[in-house]
Amino acid sequence: MLEYFPFRYLDKRNITQIGGIQYNVADYLQVEGKLISLEVVGEKRGRRLVGILSDGSGEMELVWFQGIGWVENTLKIGGRYKAFGKVSFFQNSPQITHPELDLVEGDRKEVKAFFDPVYPSTEKLKGRGLGGRQIAKLTATLLGLLSEKDVDENIPQEFIDRYKLLNRFEAFRKIHFPGSIDDSNAAIRRLKFEELFIAQVRMGLRRVKRHRASRGYTFTEVGDLFNIFYKDHLPFELTEAQKRVIREIRKDIGSGRQMNRLLQGDVGSGKTIVALSVMVIAAGNGFQSCLMSPTEILAVQHHQSLSRMLKALPVNVKILTGSTRARERKKILEGCESGEVQILIGTHAVIEDRVVFKNLGLAIVDEQHRFGVAQRAKLWKKNELPPHVLVMTATPIPRTLALTAYGDLDYSVIDELPPGRTPIVTVHKKEYGRPQVMDFIKQEILKGRQAYIIYPLIEESPKLDFENLMKGYEEVKAFFPEANYTISMVHGRQKAEQKNTNMERFVKGEANLLVSTTVIEVGVDVPNASVMLIESAEKFGLPQLHQLRGRVGRGSVKSYCILSTRVNISREAKLRIGIMCETNDGFKIAEKDLEIRGPGDVEGTRQSGLLNFKIANILEDKAILEEARISAESVIEIDPELAGEQNQGLKTFLESQRGKTKWSRIS
Ligand code: ADP
Ligand code: MG
Repeated sequence: MLEYFPFRYLDKRNITQIGGIQYNVADYLQVEGKLISLEVVGEKRGRRLVGILSDGSGEMELVWFQGIGWVENTLKIGGRYKAFGKVSFFQNSPQITHPELDLVEGDRKEVKAFFDPVYPSTEKLKGRGLGGRQIAKLTATLLGLLSEKDVDENIPQEFIDRYKLLNRFEAFRKIHFPGSIDDSNAAIRRLKFEELFIAQVRMGLRRVKRHRASRGYTFTEVGDLFNIFYKDHLPFELTEAQKRVIREIRKDIGSGRQMNRLLQGDVGSGKTIVALSVMVIAAGNGFQSCLMSPTEILAVQHHQSLSRMLKALPVNVKILTGSTRARERKKILEGCESGEVQILIGTHAVIEDRVVFKNLGLAIVDEQHRFGVAQRAKLWKKNELPPHVLVMTATPIPRTLALTAYGDLDYSVIDELPPGRTPIVTVHKKEYGRPQVMDFIKQEILKGRQAYIIYPLIEESPKLDFENLMKGYEEVKAFFPEANYTISMVHGRQKAEQKNTNMERFVKGEANLLVSTTVIEVGVDVPNASVMLIESAEKFGLPQLHQLRGRVGRGSVKSYCILSTRVNISREAKLRIGIMCETNDGFKIAEKDLEIRGPGDVEGTRQSGLLNFKIANILEDKAILEEARISAESVIEIDPELAGEQNQGLKTFLESQRGKTKWSRIS
């Protein structure tokens, strides 16, 4: 009951002048005056007790339909009362039905501030006598029976002092029955802190436990392979952020414990090269590694770029997907088992049971939210010790949120884009502007650039989706006649092989245009493409739009993203498009997305529900979240056993909570 919090309070501090009550504004009010009459009127169902209260500025009726006899006997005509309740209007004059009444003793004006808690209830609960009012009464009774020593503190004193938090008992008392707004704010702050602190301590402890318990393979050296790769085969200088992340990963994989790391980075920040580097290090240490991509197109692309970079080096890289031919597949499977295949790139096919590795030491999951937990769990069975795991997010989420949601993983972030990027210009165009848009694309093609035209994927109706795309394709063909332009099309109904061939034509620059549904959403990399036209952009979510836009602006050429919509779109769609036009920063977009949709829906955290707190709101409570995080981290750092005197309350609390909350993990 103590943890069943009111959702608001009735403010009973103010006393309203009866004469000043605004006509037809039905609100909870408190008035104070003299009871000048009291009589029973009406017959049968209309029978009621009516009192008249006068405060000098005016008079109002107080009405009872029930308990008439009791009320009549209790009230004194001529007495001074405070009446509280919801005002309604009967024949143009204000009245309160079934008011709460307090006798005002003598002439003394009571000035004590007073708030009444309002609790959520349901019809069913009300039917059992547990309406809001009853819950308040029970809670009041309960609190009257308890004292500070009955409610154990679960936040170490140090933080209570540092952040000036109420103790747990006080917080419960004041959230239910605050004497002032300040009281309730202080109580709420403390309880939010507690919630965020406990969650993060719990995850931090899990991380510590994993670090200790999980022995992993040790990659002792960088390896000649990596050194040569780094010196002679990297197509560009790594950014400082990329170097730092590789260092962080190297420290993990050299430590003797299993790595379980989340890598965040905005679209286009260059996560792929980090993944490839780590796989080369693994190979140099005599371990096999695999990289899993959400789509076949992406797997093919990773395979190509890695093979290209490693061409001159003695590393065996293979690709395995759903469409790998039986004979080739057999050879690859044998190669994995014998250890001959050092790096395996692919889709889900990579973690199927029949893929047996000789010595898998590293698994990388690209664009993680598409992989289910169960699929990831399969990795654990691939070798004696679990391989190191690196999970790369497709859509970044704000750092504090990532630390909260994935606090049991280690965390790296690439917070810098490769140099020489020109920001993408994003504009919103209504459908009727399409001819100009197409003209614009023509000019870009004339400059030697390429363009994407994307149609939404309507998951509920693949048929409609296909028709949409085909209609669009015809339209595009009308603007770009086949005699002068080459158009490639990719969609979900094509066989994988066909998809790859068509994609390939675009990648190689043979096609000017790629018309597609969202199959290209994640990952593909064609630096020469400078226009991304998204049709029916109002149907896409923010992360998706940002991902799609990230397909352009990958080289130094100036790039454009055109969001085409119907003329009338919803308020939310307008908001999303506005944000897209305003910023290119994926972390900012993620934050906005969160604001619009609420934390329960963040890509990649949805399954876990980790960001849904009971009283805290991670969007509004960023400051508290940060304080709680720092506090939790300091506990984990200094006393991970929770052995210290100061942490006993916390320890006991966590033990009592065990099994009550289910925290799923992402890998
Ligand atoms: P994402 O993080 O979205 O997966 P990619 O790894 O696909 O991004 O990289 C985006 C583009 O940036 C690619 O064309 C890649 O070759 C290029 N790139 C990555 N790192 C660098 C760098 N340090 N300098 C220049 N270009 C880079
Ligand atoms: Mg990528």
